[in-house]
Amino acid sequence: MKALVRFGTKPETLEFQEVPKPLVDETHAILRVEAVGICGRDLEHFREELDDKKVPFIPGHEFSGTIVELPPGAKNFKIGDRVTAETIDFVCGECEVCDLGNYNLCKKRKNIGGGMNGAYAPFMKVPLEYIHLLPDNVSFEEGAMVEPACVSYNATLINSNPKEGELVVIIGVGTVGLLCLQMATLRGAKVALIGLPEDVNRMKIGKDLGADYLIYANENPVEKVLELTKQNGAPLVIDTVGGSSKTMDQALEMVRPGGQITKVGWFMKTTNTTLDTLIRKNIRLQGSFSHTHEMWKECIDLISSGKVNAKKMISKVLPLEDWREGFELGFSRKALKVILKPN
Ligand SMILES: [Zn+2]
Ligand SMILES: [Zn+2]
Repeated sequence: MKALVRFGTKPETLEFQEVPKPLVDETHAILRVEAVGICGRDLEHFREELDDKKVPFIPGHEFSGTIVELPPGAKNFKIGDRVTAETIDFVCGECEVCDLGNYNLCKKRKNIGGGMNGAYAPFMKVPLEYIHLLPDNVSFEEGAMVEPACVSYNATLINSNPKEGELVVIIGVGTVGLLCLQMATLRGAKVALIGLPEDVNRMKIGKDLGADYLIYANENPVEKVLELTKQNGAPLVIDTVGGSSKTMDQALEMVRPGGQITKVGWFMKTTNTTLDTLIRKNIRLQGSFSHTHEMWKECIDLISSGKVNAKKMISKVLPLEDWREGFELGFSRKALKVILKPN
């Protein structure tokens, strides 16, 4: 089969290559990939130099598909089932975090679309243990949105847990930012979104999805948040921006003393952020990473019931061959979520 392969360590070494079709085994099913989302992380990776232990691999970790092969005796699933799956290929199941049910944080974890081949391909292999059925009313495209929804669910509702009526500031209006917005409004929180001037379209979608305030990053967002909160600061700031530490500095300035900051966007380099503000303001700073089984179930329900609108966030659906166009749309920030269809 022809798949999109990250073949080299140098940036932009991604191309279609002929690779063997994955084989079914005792613990894995084969999916025909129906939809795969371009993640901000895929874009960042594309322009990054990678460690030579990491390549070659097929990227793509936000996907849905149809089960086309199952090992003999597989329970719970049948050929033809419409599914999505978690991004885990392996965790040890024996360490303390695995024991506590936080298997997403296992040190021995192997990722789909990273350490293991992902969904930028017509077929892929997924562990039976991490497959979830899609309800009939959830399209394959929406099915590919479950993964980022889970990232946002974990960051907003599990790790941060805002209260009804509380102001939540979300920095960054990409897919995860706008899904964090939707999670926060589920809780009855008020939301201020901070985006770049070139994010006008994304901000508009944010408004439609229930944002109470739109703040542009070039208009002194710290001051704006202080104004909104009578100079108190926001009880919760969720920073979804990757590749910059500026937003973290702003979060420290705009958070209320005793408040919390949740960091979802990766810094990806060393930062000059001074953390003394963290101490002086008695702030709880936390990272939020990945998701677990229960969150997948919850997010599939939220999308199926229409409480979370995944459809509105999909700007473009393209055949996998046109991945360059999709990546360009992502880099230019003209699109929100671009979905690729390998088949
Ligand atoms: Zn992702
Ligand atoms: Zn483990």
